[in-house]
Amino acid sequence: MLATPIVIRYYRRVKGVVIITLIGYSKTDMKEKKQAKDTITFLGTGGARFMIITQVLASGGLWLDLGGTEILVDPGPGCIVQTNKRKLKAEKLSAIIVSHRHLDHAADVNIMVEAMTQGGFKSHGRLFAPTDALETEPVLLNYLRERLDAIEVLEESKTYDIEDVSFKTPVRHVHPVENYGMVFTTPRHTFSYISDTRYFDDLPGYYNSELLIINLVFMEPRTPESHPNMPIDHLSVPDVERLVSEIRPKATILTHFGMGVWRAKPWEIARQLTEKTGVKVIAASDGMKFDLSTLDED
Ligand SMILES: [Zn+2]
Repeated sequence: MLATPIVIRYYRRVKGVVIITLIGYSKTDMKEKKQAKDTITFLGTGGARFMIITQVLASGGLWLDLGGTEILVDPGPGCIVQTNKRKLKAEKLSAIIVSHRHLDHAADVNIMVEAMTQGGFKSHGRLFAPTDALETEPVLLNYLRERLDAIEVLEESKTYDIEDVSFKTPVRHVHPVENYGMVFTTPRHTFSYISDTRYFDDLPGYYNSELLIINLVFMEPRTPESHPNMPIDHLSVPDVERLVSEIRPKATILTHFGMGVWRAKPWEIARQLTEKTGVKVIAASDGMKFDLSTLDED
């Protein structure tokens, strides 16, 4: 639909000359401002090595549009492809957040900084990442760093502001590299993104919010006790059940599926978890756009 321009004119007289100032608004802009929405687009729903190598499910992270503030979280492989495919505009991004430096979360950070800054012609935006991803094994090429307004270091229990959105990194996860989940607060909603981690006792206490987004990689835990030869620090279906039962959000969205979860049909797992917990659990699909205003209806 075409926007209808509304033009406001200011007249003033300077040394006998009439100066007219025209300010253009459009009805569409005003409507968008009035009906600010929070949406999350799942650029991909695959996680862990074999799913990422094969791209049976896409990868690429979460694209947040929070009342017009656009934020990209965990730009995994193919993020640039999915961004263009979904007709999202990287130059509108205010920030890119990397939870940790594993490939499935950070592989496309360079190209996404390139896209956010229009190939360097429009330097702007911020990158948030743990020290480990900035210094130990830097995920961002040096020549791209100067295009950003700032690089912010993620630390445990800190809160960060991006325009009128804030997010907290409440606890360092149990994972082979430094890694944080996030609790986002917008003027309308709260939601948590529980990035990769081994389950630990206090985990649910850190992520109280209306909506949970959980990276579900395995069907069963692979703890040092159950798999002494090859423990892997990822969440599994029983871990998700504990998280949902303790936090009791309005809804939970599962994503970042490993091959075993995909074979078991994530939507079936979600249905069973909904039955067991009484909380609405949804399996994300590639390209799914979730509107948080649906949380207000239930
Ligand atoms: Zn990881």
